[in-house]
Amino acid sequence: MDNKVIAKIKALAESGECMGQTDEEIFARCFNAAKKALGITPFDEQLAAAISLSAGRLVQMQTGEGKTLCAVFAACREALNGGNVHILTFNDYLARRDFEWMKPIYDEMGVSVGYITEKTERSERSELYKKQVLYITAKEAGFDYLRDFVCFDTAEMVFPEQLNMAIVDEADSILIDEARIPLVIAGDIAVKEDGGTAEVYKKVEDFTECDFEYDEESRNVYLTDDGADKAEELFGLDMYSEEGVPLLAKICACLKARHILKEDKDYIVRDGRILLIDEFTGRTAEGRVFPGELQAAAEAKHGLKITSRGRIMGNIALQYFARLYPKIAGMTGTAESAAEEFSKLYALDIDVIPTHLPCQREDKQLELYYDREEKRKAIIAAISEASAAQRPVLVGTESIEESESIAEELRRNGIDCSVLNAKNDAEEAGIIARAGEKGAVTISTNMAGRGVDIKLGGEDCREKEFVTSAGGLLVLATSMRESSRITKQLRGRAGRQGDIGESRFFASLDDEIMTRLDLKSLVPGRHYPSEKVSGVLDDKTLLKEAERIQRISEGNTCDERANLMKYTMIGEKHRELTFRRRKALLDGNYNSEMWQKNAEEAYGQAAEKFGEKPLQALQNKVLAALLNEFWCDYLDYTAYLREGIHLTQIAGRNPAEEYNIACEEYYDTAAAAIPDRMAEKLDEVLKCSKLSEYAVNAPTRTYTYLLNDMGEEFKAKPILLSVFSDEPEVKNEQLEKQQSEKKSFFKSLFGKK
Ligand code: ADP
Ligand code: MG
Repeated sequence: MDNKVIAKIKALAESGECMGQTDEEIFARCFNAAKKALGITPFDEQLAAAISLSAGRLVQMQTGEGKTLCAVFAACREALNGGNVHILTFNDYLARRDFEWMKPIYDEMGVSVGYITEKTERSERSELYKKQVLYITAKEAGFDYLRDFVCFDTAEMVFPEQLNMAIVDEADSILIDEARIPLVIAGDIAVKEDGGTAEVYKKVEDFTECDFEYDEESRNVYLTDDGADKAEELFGLDMYSEEGVPLLAKICACLKARHILKEDKDYIVRDGRILLIDEFTGRTAEGRVFPGELQAAAEAKHGLKITSRGRIMGNIALQYFARLYPKIAGMTGTAESAAEEFSKLYALDIDVIPTHLPCQREDKQLELYYDREEKRKAIIAAISEASAAQRPVLVGTESIEESESIAEELRRNGIDCSVLNAKNDAEEAGIIARAGEKGAVTISTNMAGRGVDIKLGGEDCREKEFVTSAGGLLVLATSMRESSRITKQLRGRAGRQGDIGESRFFASLDDEIMTRLDLKSLVPGRHYPSEKVSGVLDDKTLLKEAERIQRISEGNTCDERANLMKYTMIGEKHRELTFRRRKALLDGNYNSEMWQKNAEEAYGQAAEKFGEKPLQALQNKVLAALLNEFWCDYLDYTAYLREGIHLTQIAGRNPAEEYNIACEEYYDTAAAAIPDRMAEKLDEVLKCSKLSEYAVNAPTRTYTYLLNDMGEEFKAKPILLSVFSDEPEVKNEQLEKQQSEKKSFFKSLFGKK
């Protein structure tokens, strides 16, 4: 904390000589505005946090210390220096709460402010994005960014052309825990299916094992020599000639759809559509389609007549969305233990702000049990004991199921409790706010109710004295988490602003993390119980190793996340490029001349028939639609590629390199095909009698969602990544040598292109 600067700010505030535009003067005005508008006198610690935020740093400040106000200082400073600010809140409820709460300060400062939630009409958003300060979730902002990509008129676009600064609240949640969750926009797009696939499917129905081979590793189907002969006879075409290649691809896709793809395992048929089942989550992903010819082949298998398909039109992981802001600052109660990751992934450095009053929470050491049953007994006993004394308890569980099961057991014992499961933010905020009431028992997953203040003795602190004498809020964590950050986050729910409180932390030898990281192998045999023990385990070595497990897990997940970026960066680069090109077409900054250059004759005719100007406008629109199609194909292809990429490990190659090369290659080749596809579109345009008759291939309906809104992907990814780890480092010169060889390797592996 820079006490000199803080003293100067306060002196300026006091003297009223703070009308200028220096940082200190602006902060001093905010200081007075907070006093005047909200009756709050900001603490020195809050000023220190405000200074750190303004410097684009990550502030670690305990829960309940007043971070909401700190962000206002930094936001006003930025706004009054001409830059817009998005304050990215943890959920919609908090976006609105913080806006309503802090608006009087912004009014006093002459800074415009707004908020957007899921419920905000799209027609209002454009104006809201023009506010100097905007409260919004990263998710909602990210969806707006994606939605603009499927607009056909700049008037419909809402997202700012140029982002400036983001202040991320509960930063570790968005930037680390949820960083990889992709936001998705999908749309129903018309497809032109000429029926050719259905015909091919019929013709190859009697192909047998002798005619084709399935390669499990590449998941591709190949014709044998016998099969190729048979196909040539059936279709009267040389399979390996230039005209034969597209047909060959269709044939292989049909064989794969018929013999390899399994209904209800790989896909389901619903409402006349093929919906893919995500192999990791086991759920259907709206808008995911099989790549290449395979989707049409699967449709042919079920005799479906397809006129439009739901397809993923765009996606962005939260971490990349956050990176779209040139300036980023963050605040959270728990940052330190993820310092390395914040610095590596976001170049964010941490400032730890001390609490205003000394913390009076007692953090008990880990209580380790033999198994879940023993642990559960202890947890229920701890809750019952607190409940009998009418001391409020907050139980932090790992999952909704666990919450429900504990609640059921408590109710059977005659203990009433509230359960939160991160479904309804506003309702849950109300419950959490009352978690400090006399006798309250609240059970919550880690995500639920974050950002809401728990006051002792209830929201109005009526029974604070009683609750304080009972020991304050007791927080119980029911298992060892993947990171100590999550445990700390839970502990931090108690003991806010110098309150008295206590946290206890339970684990058992069969907790998921203990078995996954094999605690048993880390502990010398004599320290590990050989048979069931009842009650708490007290072997010091065992306890020490159990705690070490968490640090091992932290290291692993950090490495995994860094490693995963090697696979996702390339898509980000391509998306940025594609989005930018498309936008330029629509806002008139760039005119496509593909028709003029690649279909000169047709262009001449069309220009004469329809007039050059309207034709040019249409050309830009058609290209914009084509870029959407191009991007859909790219996303399907790369998703397909990722599923198979680990196989290259077998060939002793670096999978991340392989993947990047393949994506680059695909992008370039598909982009090179665009002029020809545009020329085809011009032929269609020429057939119309009026330009207005021509309909660009725009989605009839779009929808947004989080691909893994339950966070299941996190559980799935490490499995995938365990295959990636220990990848051999390929040296640069070696790499270059291998490059050409690699390209053909991929061609044979994935068959496409
Ligand atoms: P955090 O986001 O750090 O958990 P909040 O911004 O939600 O904390 O604030 C927690 C509580 O502290 C709120 O009730 C708020 O009114 C109160 N508060 C914040 N700053 C001050 C202050 N300077 N003086 C008194 N109370 C404050
Ligand atoms: Mg907060």
